[in-house]
Amino acid sequence: MSKPTNAAATIGVLAETAEGERRVSLDPSAVALLIKRGHPVLTESRAGVAAGFSDAAYVAAGATLSTRARIVDESDVLAVVRMPVGGLVKKLRPEQTIIGLLDPLNNLDDMKILADHGVTAVAFELLPRTLSRSQGMDALSSQASAAGYRAAIVAAAAFGRYLPMMITASGTATPAKVIVIGTGVAGLQAIATARRLGAVVTGYDVRAASRQEVESLGARFLTSTISQAAGNGGYATALTADERAAQQGELSSALTGFDIIITTAKVPGRTPPVLVTRQTLDALRPGSVCVDLGASDKGGNVVGSVPGKTVVTPDGVTIIGAGELASDLPASASQMYGHNIVAVLTALMPNGALAFDPEDEIHQSIVVCTAGNIINPAIRAALTIEPVASSATTEGVLAS
Ligand code: NAD
Repeated sequence: MSKPTNAAATIGVLAETAEGERRVSLDPSAVALLIKRGHPVLTESRAGVAAGFSDAAYVAAGATLSTRARIVDESDVLAVVRMPVGGLVKKLRPEQTIIGLLDPLNNLDDMKILADHGVTAVAFELLPRTLSRSQGMDALSSQASAAGYRAAIVAAAAFGRYLPMMITASGTATPAKVIVIGTGVAGLQAIATARRLGAVVTGYDVRAASRQEVESLGARFLTSTISQAAGNGGYATALTADERAAQQGELSSALTGFDIIITTAKVPGRTPPVLVTRQTLDALRPGSVCVDLGASDKGGNVVGSVPGKTVVTPDGVTIIGAGELASDLPASASQMYGHNIVAVLTALMPNGALAFDPEDEIHQSIVVCTAGNIINPAIRAALTIEPVASSATTEGVLAS
């Protein structure tokens, strides 16, 4: 039976397919919000179990349980955390939307397929994050915040000593010294959490403006000769080869006194800079812990870190490769993420169905492609498609 044209879009919640991923795109509270807005919601059976949400909780929120195949077939919008593996993109059809952390710059072939199939792809990585109306949609921040919190917890669990100062009848423990390198959203949350656990905390970043944020959390700021004003969107820019060498030299002597090093340093579109070198690792005391939130298959901030794995060096330094740490706090991370999805869908579907507005700054950025056209300027550039004049509508902006 075909759907009435004015019906609110049906939203599908798919189980995640990436290895080790425990989050789910919409938790039952986000489902309830969508149901309230008139959207039918189909949930893949057991999609939320790894995040702590039972099928019964989805049903209680108003969702209908279904199979993956039926959800892909019957949904207008497919909500995911990460890009589905297993060829799903090829099964999508015109008029369908997929929304998630699609990592479009690293998944250009899939973006091209989605555009060629007339699918609307919405990627959180492309959201302009500094607009006040985009704050509730900012999944990069909500997930970085979860990862930063978790980084301090994971570090504390792997460290064989107390974090706080302890004065007991059996002896006194000195507080652990923690440094957080890269003090964006994740780093600031790691600092706040390590402070709550009683450690003595230092922060370090190349962006000069971050000093104030670090100090406002009661942490010390490690001063460096490598300092820059924030670039586009508040992000750091890549260092030159000379700056990189100078930074590594400075850090290798500064880091040796720390018990725990948490790294979160990233530059959009680049491989993460190496900030903890072999020389630094060799100089750390046995029992020290490094948690690398930059760890990915393209490298990380700590030499020798392996994504998703814990490695202990022959000298007893633990290196935790933790590039997807938000997945380690799956219930809270999914709850925040689900609300980010609801906020984006509300912006893109003010009346319940997709209404792409080429003049709206958020639509122009977060929409990778719609109706066969690649919209986002960075993705157009990456696919070597000429830029669109600002007043142009999507008409005539062909994907190929
Ligand atoms: P990110 O995850 O891309 O990077 C993490 C941190 O690594 C950043 O602070 C960056 O400066 C730092 N870094 C990069 N290269 C480094 C190096 N070589 N050495 C040391 N540090 C290095 O960043 P993010 O957390 O997504 O945030 C980036 C910026 O955007 C921050 O200033 C953040 O506060 C800001 N932001 C603003 C808003 C808003 O206005 N609403 C929302 C989100 C983020």
